[in-house]
Amino acid sequence: MEHPENDDLYKGLKVNKGVADVPTVNPYLKKRLQRKEYTPAEFVEGILKGNITILSQAVTLVESAKYEHQQVAQEIIEKCLPHAGKSVRIGITGVPGAGKSTSIDVFGMHLIGKGRKLAVLAIDPSSERSKGSILGDKTRMEALSREKNAFIRPSPSAGSLGGVARKTRETIVLCEAAGFDTVFVETVGVGQSETAVHSMVDFFLLIQLAGTGDELQGIKRGIMEMADGIIINKADGDNIDKANLAAAQFRNALHLFPPSESGWFPKVLTYSGYYNLGIKEIWEMIGKYMEFTKKNGYFNHKRNEQAKYWMYESINDTLREKFYHNPAVENRLGITEQQVLNNEISSFVAAKRMMDLFLADISGK
Ligand code: GDP
Repeated sequence: MEHPENDDLYKGLKVNKGVADVPTVNPYLKKRLQRKEYTPAEFVEGILKGNITILSQAVTLVESAKYEHQQVAQEIIEKCLPHAGKSVRIGITGVPGAGKSTSIDVFGMHLIGKGRKLAVLAIDPSSERSKGSILGDKTRMEALSREKNAFIRPSPSAGSLGGVARKTRETIVLCEAAGFDTVFVETVGVGQSETAVHSMVDFFLLIQLAGTGDELQGIKRGIMEMADGIIINKADGDNIDKANLAAAQFRNALHLFPPSESGWFPKVLTYSGYYNLGIKEIWEMIGKYMEFTKKNGYFNHKRNEQAKYWMYESINDTLREKFYHNPAVENRLGITEQQVLNNEISSFVAAKRMMDLFLADISGK
């Protein structure tokens, strides 16, 4: 007998028949995780219909380092290109704590309220935050993340700044094809990423703070020169006077810079992201800039220059990658470097030898 307790001997005791234990691994999990594999044409169709799930999956392919994924991604991008280009692209930068998240949330909600569709992307190659943490970015922009007309995507995490930036640029194309008419590209405002962002947006917005002593706050002069608008955040409570003073100082500083190529003189505004003050004016400023640069032809000129820039960036990336991953080069590079260090050959001779080796190797293939 399986259970002696059930013997008549033990009155009042009965062991029921049990059921099998649940397995430690959920057998249904696989089914749930299985994603439909779309063809490039299905991806494009989904994106053009504004299907956010498909858009997200396509962006994941763009961000992937896998060769097969890149092949599919490039095909999708190519087919989306004719439907792209119609959005207002805005770069937003500011040091950590300047209030980017708070401001993007409020500013974004203002635009959604006006019936616009907003994609928020980021370029942040250094950040731990961006390592796949969508939730991190979603909680940073609480109101926006609940909006169906907003698409928030953290910075692609892998690779060099150039690589990360290129992925963001390609993601812009997909978002535009999906019907997003406004794109924000956010960066942290302390490194090189501003230049990359500047090369993919129409308007560059710099968020600054008042009353922190040095008014230029470690923001490099170069970044200020790139700005089409400087907005001074936290102009609320006791801080209003300080913010106005900072605005005046920035206006003065801007006068010392050479005139910008666009013919536009950068504006300085104060606002409060937290209390939702002065947000409308920021959007109006961007509207004026668009009108101004479309009229004088700068808008198209800049977009063309950017397209050219990205073509050469891609060529440079590919060349570099092919050169450094070439087995013949990999074999000799260390030795040649040592020869330079030993003063046996000059840097230039060394470089020429390596290039000759590479060119001979690829032409023999
Ligand atoms: P980020 O690091 O640039 O994204 O900055 P956050 O948006 O996270 O803001 C940093 C801090 O500044 C937070 O504690 C915010 O609550 C605060 N903050 C942001 N905007 C304002 C504002 O307009 N006024 C005030 N007083 N505080 C703000």
